[in-house]
Amino acid sequence: MRKQIVAGNWKMHKNASQTEELLNELISKIPAKTNAQVIVAPTFINLAAAANKLKNTPIGVSAQNVHQAEGGAFTGEISADMLKSVGVNTVILGHSERRAIFNETDALIANKVDTALKHEMTVIFCFGEELKDRQSDNHFNIVENQLRDGLFHISKESWSKVVLAYEPVWAIGTGETASPEQAQEMHEFIRETIRKAFGNDIADVVSILYGGSVKPENAKEIFSKPDVDGGLIGGAALKAEDFLAIVTAI
Ligand code: PEP
Repeated sequence: MRKQIVAGNWKMHKNASQTEELLNELISKIPAKTNAQVIVAPTFINLAAAANKLKNTPIGVSAQNVHQAEGGAFTGEISADMLKSVGVNTVILGHSERRAIFNETDALIANKVDTALKHEMTVIFCFGEELKDRQSDNHFNIVENQLRDGLFHISKESWSKVVLAYEPVWAIGTGETASPEQAQEMHEFIRETIRKAFGNDIADVVSILYGGSVKPENAKEIFSKPDVDGGLIGGAALKAEDFLAIVTAI
């Protein structure tokens, strides 16, 4: 049985009081029993407060990024040790916005993966093709290369600390969602790619989340697909009502 996960990526939204407000609402309204593990990723500046608030609740907390170095003269950056020291044990890496806007390459992401794993953090590893890749029928190649170059160097043992998030770039924040069939087709391909490289033990167990304009209205159908193990949610994670509707769609 694979872990079902719904994670909310808050990106650069919500100041301190808004963060507290949304967390309070999530904590008070989350059903006592959910089929999904629920995670939220507020901005760095609110992470320590969020981690503290979420202690002893069913909601986990994640960072949106980490620096690859252990520490040093890297103005504006945050290390894995710093995250761990405030109770943050999960990190989103390879998000398409980090790749496109902050020029993160597969090699850099691979470094960040190593650092996070060294600190025994769970990595939510994001990847996915752009519209031009899909239009030129190159989407399977792109996805396979992102996996190989950013992640496939890790040991078999490390896979227990990895969650995959397939996020077609053309569906992120655009309102355009991959159809449940498109999501299933790619998730199956991803699982088979992992099977070939690492075997059944890992392929059958690793959770593969779908991300890209998941909303309360489409979550149930996407999550019903056999290789979709939950979602990474952007815009719809910013309203408790919408996010919890997605959580309960699993
Ligand atoms: C995301 O940024 O990871 C994401 C899936 O965003 P949205 O749900 O807004 O498309």
